[in-house]
Amino acid sequence: MFCFQCEQTKCNKYCQDIGVCGKTELTAFLQDKIVSALVDLANGAERNKKNTNLIIEGLFMTVTNVNFDDSFLQKSLDVIKNSYYSETPFDIKQLWAENDDLRSLKSIILFGLKGMAAFAYHARRFNFKSEVVDSFFYEGLQALSKDLSLNELGALVLKTGKINLKALELLDKANTETYGHPIPTYVSTNIEEGPFIVVTGHDLQDLALLLEQTKDKGINIYTHGEMLPSHAYPQLKKYSHLKGNFGTAWQNQQKEFENIPAPILFTTNCMMPVEESYADRAYTTSVVSYPNVQHIDNNKDFTPLIKKSLELGGYKTMQKRTGLNGGSVLSVGYGRNTVISVADRIVDLLHDGKIKHIFIVGGCDGAKIGRNYYTEFVRKIPSDSLILTYACGKYRFNDIFTDKIEDIPRIMDMGQCNDTYSAIKIVEELAKRLNCSIGGLPVSFVISWYEQKSISILLTLLYLGIQNIRLGPGMPAFVSPNIMRMLINKFKIKPISTPDEDLKAILG
Ligand code: SF4
Ligand code: SF4
Repeated sequence: MFCFQCEQTKCNKYCQDIGVCGKTELTAFLQDKIVSALVDLANGAERNKKNTNLIIEGLFMTVTNVNFDDSFLQKSLDVIKNSYYSETPFDIKQLWAENDDLRSLKSIILFGLKGMAAFAYHARRFNFKSEVVDSFFYEGLQALSKDLSLNELGALVLKTGKINLKALELLDKANTETYGHPIPTYVSTNIEEGPFIVVTGHDLQDLALLLEQTKDKGINIYTHGEMLPSHAYPQLKKYSHLKGNFGTAWQNQQKEFENIPAPILFTTNCMMPVEESYADRAYTTSVVSYPNVQHIDNNKDFTPLIKKSLELGGYKTMQKRTGLNGGSVLSVGYGRNTVISVADRIVDLLHDGKIKHIFIVGGCDGAKIGRNYYTEFVRKIPSDSLILTYACGKYRFNDIFTDKIEDIPRIMDMGQCNDTYSAIKIVEELAKRLNCSIGGLPVSFVISWYEQKSISILLTLLYLGIQNIRLGPGMPAFVSPNIMRMLINKFKIKPISTPDEDLKAILG
């Protein structure tokens, strides 16, 4: 087994024998076979809806912490293999055997495609598709088996970021046109008495379907992890039994799910290996799967969860819970529509010197001790700076602040990882109003990465020419020293150091 696709890879080199994520050698083998088969499919099969779906689903199920179920993976592999014929089958090991720099660039493209597949998958559930996005999956996969120069691959890396921006836009449209633009909303961390279900992952449609099926059944629904921003969507928030948020980010699942008297629905990653103590009340759906955990198929009949919730009965009395810093109210709903509606005000406050800087502190969370950097960094940001955040890294600080700069909340949660799209639209709008480039704005990106969606997002930010991104907690193992030097020279990417040093460097 050879896998180095995520931030927690062993010793920051590669996982062998078993993944730090819990992926076994057989699971890794099957996922490699799926990627190899998808390259053959892209090279040899007709480009049509069925094959595009196979590519998007196949890539998504190989993303970190999505699918640990060998029989699920084997069945998917068989379907893919029955869809093409290749006389010279591609083997992903050919990619791993390339020289350091070629392997690095092709890995960046592959992992970017995996992240983009996740966004495209969610958008397709609402029937939002794009010819440009779909055809790039073929082009990107084909490139993995081609003899291309470093320059050609470098151009494809940036094209991956460019097309991923379209995938992000598509998902933003799918979510906002279906459920409305997010509006500022407070979310409680307490759990009320009575039966409940916890929903985790990123798929808003799964949540919506579950809300509809549990309506008037005396069951409350709590979001977990990346599902938190759903409270701000008008067409989801209208359900009065969408009560609050349970727990924190994905890496705390085993501890947080252990003793709760309720079922849990996993709609996407990040799924920690499911412990025996809650396996009988865990449910997966879509491309997420785990051995011996019940899977809800694409008919999306959530009756098993509903029955389990009523059988377990929930808590007898209200449970007071808090976030990691002791706060019991989380604030969400600062997507592009809300923030851009006060852009004039932000510009005025920038002109008056009341807002000195805007920090975009976003990205994934994870288990590494070094990720404390982000909590400390946010705590040390001066009170005359705004903080925009997204994705699950925010759980480290999203219960801390309630203050404002004049009438603008100092910390604003834009949503899930895919809502980086909001961050991009907000900075573009501010640049337009201030008549400067994004680089000329007093804005700094401080990003935490973990899996392949965050890689595709980083590529999009680079494609947009955003420089001086501070990246952590570590640098990707799949980026060779030469390619890293090139990224540092061209885009001025900076590894995070200490909060004090980085703040001093940014604010001068
Ligand atoms: S996904 Fe990450 S942790 Fe899992 S095997 Fe690959 S590199 Fe290791
Ligand atoms: S933001 Fe990243 S780490 Fe967090 S749940 Fe989503 S994919 Fe996983």
